[in-house]
Amino acid sequence: MSLAERILKLKKEKNAVILAHNYQRPEVQDIADYVGDSIELSRKAMDEKDAEIIVFSAVDFMAESAAVLNPEKKVLLPTLGARCPMAQMLTVEEIQHAKLRHKGIPTVLYVNTSAAAKAQCDVCCTSANAVEIVSSLEEDSVLFGPDRNLAEYVQRKTGKTVIPIPDWGFCPTHVLFQPEDITVLRGQHPKAAVMVHPECTFETQKVSDFVGSTSQMCRYAKENAADTFIVGTEEGILHRLKKENPSKRFLLAYEGAVCPNMKLNTLERVYSSLREEKNVVTVPRSVSERARKALDRMLNLA
Ligand code: SF4
Repeated sequence: MSLAERILKLKKEKNAVILAHNYQRPEVQDIADYVGDSIELSRKAMDEKDAEIIVFSAVDFMAESAAVLNPEKKVLLPTLGARCPMAQMLTVEEIQHAKLRHKGIPTVLYVNTSAAAKAQCDVCCTSANAVEIVSSLEEDSVLFGPDRNLAEYVQRKTGKTVIPIPDWGFCPTHVLFQPEDITVLRGQHPKAAVMVHPECTFETQKVSDFVGSTSQMCRYAKENAADTFIVGTEEGILHRLKKENPSKRFLLAYEGAVCPNMKLNTLERVYSSLREEKNVVTVPRSVSERARKALDRMLNLA
C-alpha cells in the first residue's frame, strides 16, 4: 500500500478530514479532501460537522484559526515548525500601541496573524475579502496589519485611510516578484494574462492584468479566455491551476517564489501526525473567545 493510500485509510478510520492550502506540495494537495485558500478552508472546517479530527496542512495561523472556529475538534498541524514569518511581524504590544496612538479607529487584521493578535482586533480579513471588509466599516480610517502591500492595495481600492501596523510588514515570498520578471515574460508571451497576489509590491501589481487572492486567481484563470497565464504567487498554486485548467498554460513569474514554511509539510508528516494524533494546535480560551468574535464578524460580513 502506498503512503497516500495509508493516509486515506487512516483518515477514514479516525474520522478525519484533511485540508490543504493552495501552496502545499502537489502530493499533499492530491490526498486532501479540500484544497483552497485560508477562508475557503476555514469554512470547510466548519462545514465538516461530523469529523473529529482536522489535519490542517498549511502554516500555524491557519491551523490556529481552525482550532478557534472548531473548539470541539482536534486540529493537527503536520509540522509544528511551519510558521508564517509575516504573521510573526505583528505583536500584541504593537497593536496595543497603535490603538493608543489612533484612538477610535477600528483595527482590521489579516488572518495571517497569531490568534493572540486576532484577539486584539475588531474584525479579520483575508486577501480575498479585505476590500469588502474595510468598505463595510463606517469609519474612513482603519488600522491594518501586518502586510503593508495589502494595506496599500486596500487603501487604493476603498479610498479610505489605511494605516499599516507595523509599517514594514511583508511576505518574504511575494516580495520576490519584481516588475522586470513580468515585463520579460510578457515579451516572450505577448498574449498571456498576468495575475498577481496583493502581497506583491505595488510596482509588480501595476504591470499586471489582475490582482487577487489565490481563490480569485483560480476563478480568473477559469473565466479568462487567455490560454497562457503568468502567475505572481507561491508556486504551489500552479498544481491546482493546471489540474482545473488542463488545456491552459501557467508560468510562474519568478521561479524562486517558494514559501519554505508551507513546504515543510510532507506526506510522511501528514501520516505521522494523523497516526499519532500529534502536533495538536490549541488556543487558550481567553484568547480564543475574542479571536473568534473577529473571525465570526469577518465570516458574517464577507
Ligand atoms: S506565502 Fe508568505 S504569507 Fe503565506 S505562509 Fe508563506 S510567508 Fe506567510
